[in-house]
Amino acid sequence: MANHFSQLARKSKANGPIEKVSKEQTGNPSLEIYKLGDDVLRQNAQRITKVDNSIRILAKEMLQSMYAAKGIGLAAPQIGINKELLVIDVNFEDNAAEPLILINPEITNYGTTLNSYEEGCLSIPGVYLNVVRPSTIKLRFRDEMGRPRKMKADGLLARCIQHEMDHLNGVLFVDRVTSKEDLNKELIKEGFHEKDVMPIK
Ligand SMILES: [Zn+2]
Repeated sequence: MANHFSQLARKSKANGPIEKVSKEQTGNPSLEIYKLGDDVLRQNAQRITKVDNSIRILAKEMLQSMYAAKGIGLAAPQIGINKELLVIDVNFEDNAAEPLILINPEITNYGTTLNSYEEGCLSIPGVYLNVVRPSTIKLRFRDEMGRPRKMKADGLLARCIQHEMDHLNGVLFVDRVTSKEDLNKELIKEGFHEKDVMPIK
């Protein structure tokens, strides 16, 4: 998910431990991020059967690319990897805050309250549109050490997790936009095409 408040990001005050990925990545993302229209974004991701070092290295590279692209979330299918792996950091301004690495995430409960919020996506740069989603969720997942975890989320985090989990099912946020007029205007403005949107039935 794209972060359009990146210009507000503060400068780092201290270096974190060596294992930590700096949130102040410079230059282009090291991994290519696929864009709306690329078929790879429309595939279903596969469960990760073994959480090993290769997964941890991949997660670290995804975090570096996400920070470099000024995003708050990135799903493995966005970099052409067909696996159920997400990285998320809604606290991009806080260097001490740990990012989330979600492996094989499953939403176990959706709250009944819906809200509408403007989303963006690193795969659809420059496009920002309102999407309606449940405002709270419960989920389970495995962490980067393969340990089973559970959590509750609300606010921006709940929104970001749902957006990133859609990528694991080949769904993009533009598929959920109800205002076709706004959608087409935004897509055309950024050089994307309506034919690449697959509206949710
Ligand atoms: Zn996205």
